[in-house]
Amino acid sequence: MSCSSPAYAKKKPLKVKTLTIPRFTTVASLANILNVRYEKLLVRLEEMGFEDLTYNFILDQETAGLIADEYGYEAHFVEEKEGEDLKPMDIPEDTSSWKTRPPIVTIMGHVDHGKTTILDHLRKSSIVDQEHGGITQHIGAFSVKTPISKKQITFLDTPGHAAFLKMRQRGAEMTDIVILVVAADDSVMPQTKEAIKHIKQSAVPVIVAVNKCDKESANPERVIADLANNDIDVEDYGGETQTVRVSGLTGLNMDKLEESIITLSEVLDIRAPDKKVPVEGWIIESQSKKGMGPLATVLVRQGTLKKGDVLVAGKTYCKVRSMKDEHGKPVKQALPSTPVEVWGWKEVPEAGDECLQAKDESQAKRVIETRILREERSKQVEDIDVINKLRVDAKKEMEQRDRLDELRKYGLEEEDINSGEEASDDKPVQQNVNYIVRADVSGSVEAIVESIKDIGNDEVKLTILKQGAGAPTDSDLERAQISNAEILCFNMKVPKDIENKAAKMGVVLKNHNVIYHLIEDVTAELSSKLAPTIELKVRAEAEVKEIFEIKGKRRTVFKIAGCKVTSGTIEKKSKVRVMRNDQEVYRGKFETMKHLKDNVLEVKKGKDCGLSFEDWSDFKPGDVVQAYEENEIPRYL
Ligand code: GDP
Repeated sequence: MSCSSPAYAKKKPLKVKTLTIPRFTTVASLANILNVRYEKLLVRLEEMGFEDLTYNFILDQETAGLIADEYGYEAHFVEEKEGEDLKPMDIPEDTSSWKTRPPIVTIMGHVDHGKTTILDHLRKSSIVDQEHGGITQHIGAFSVKTPISKKQITFLDTPGHAAFLKMRQRGAEMTDIVILVVAADDSVMPQTKEAIKHIKQSAVPVIVAVNKCDKESANPERVIADLANNDIDVEDYGGETQTVRVSGLTGLNMDKLEESIITLSEVLDIRAPDKKVPVEGWIIESQSKKGMGPLATVLVRQGTLKKGDVLVAGKTYCKVRSMKDEHGKPVKQALPSTPVEVWGWKEVPEAGDECLQAKDESQAKRVIETRILREERSKQVEDIDVINKLRVDAKKEMEQRDRLDELRKYGLEEEDINSGEEASDDKPVQQNVNYIVRADVSGSVEAIVESIKDIGNDEVKLTILKQGAGAPTDSDLERAQISNAEILCFNMKVPKDIENKAAKMGVVLKNHNVIYHLIEDVTAELSSKLAPTIELKVRAEAEVKEIFEIKGKRRTVFKIAGCKVTSGTIEKKSKVRVMRNDQEVYRGKFETMKHLKDNVLEVKKGKDCGLSFEDWSDFKPGDVVQAYEENEIPRYL
């Protein structure tokens, strides 16, 4: 006889039911998976704090897992394999076997304080340095050999360089040293303070160049004192930050500035491995050159870049076909801290992207596949948020409609319903214009985005959905169509087929060559979304003299205002308002307009007439009837 009594049963551990949960699931299918009724699940979810759910609301894996847990299940997620990717090399504790490399220097400071002048001066000395001299190219960075110690320094040559800004956003740093330029005749200004903020946040060592010291009005002592007050521990006051009094214009002490950089870089002991390690670096500038395809300036961070090497940057790669230095001279290899223009990219990489060496092209392709997939997945999550929002909105709209229908049964109207809390919020809804920005080089993309991103006000704003260098792609067109965005192109030849497709799809695609015109265009587009100002123009006036009561059928009584037209011609079709002691007491339409016994369409100045108004009869002798028109006056940003 078997013994089934619990008292005799062997105690088994509680079995946890397991469930496999897909990456995304709707509330309805989750009910199915959990084997509970949808309505019951909804109640439970509301208890858990979910609001506005619908049967087709999409839940992500983590949320669905939490809910399954509430029902006593152990959730197993459908695993998505993470593909192959490249990562930068870990930096070992001991780097003493690595070679020292030239410091990478960025110049920062307030506008007009002389950043460009200083860079120009340095660039010129780099040309003189060249045996052949003469040719210089703008590739985003250049190297200088110092006059005394004959050491190399690499300067990023665009003040506030786009790539540098992106680096800053990513919290990464490609610069070793910042030169903070402050004009001796102007001292610390807002952008100086901003630069100081960045320097402090990123902990990049700094050297102060007090510029324009050739000027009579120069007051370098004041600059030093102001910097000390702004948390820069200047050496003049016993701190560690070197200060050099220079003139970018005359070249005064520029050699000292260069030597200060070398001294600091020696203290910092800047090193990188140049052999037996994969190449790593940054894209500092990129563009698509006519007939030559995409090219990019790579600033090598470690390793030696050679012809035939494969580099991955963002979602594109390059098998190095050829390289040129900043003087346009072909080079066979690039060592750490060297900027080189690199040909062989499949697509234009983005300035600020990190580039890492792959073993070969097939590894590069696999890495890019992984990155694209990762981006698609996160885009999917974004899309799902949008879909959910749309569904919730649709549900709310339906509920509102049902409520209206219900109330109408009781003779109430929309205004009665809306006169509640919603109506009290009379702030206009902020309009939005979506844009996709495309430009010839990534530097221009950044510049355009910087110049337009803040256009707008409380009523209208813009959103930049996507930005990039190179011509718009098919996926841009699709994105623009779905999100009703305009595509802004700058300084490029838009391919004919893209133009034709855009026209067919109804996507607005604009091309500008002058940044000022592009800004004007965006401002005009946003302005067109502003509600116009309504200007009220009184066309004719009449004064109410006496009130007549007219008996109608079934004992109804109509009131008519006996008036005299005092100016203009009052037309029956025009809009009307009634003023009493300069206060508006009515605004609406005429119901009747009589002259003597006849119904008329207009009454001229000096004539008497009988007037009545739609839904209003509270007029009094002395009231002024004004026939007016409304003019819409467009508003501009
Ligand atoms: P940035 O906006 O910081 O790049 O400043 P710029 O290099 O464009 O310089 C702004 C103005 O200051 C220009 O007119 C320069 O000629 C002038 N400037 C720059 N450096 C010096 C200098 O050392 N001495 C004098 N006198 N003028 C300078």
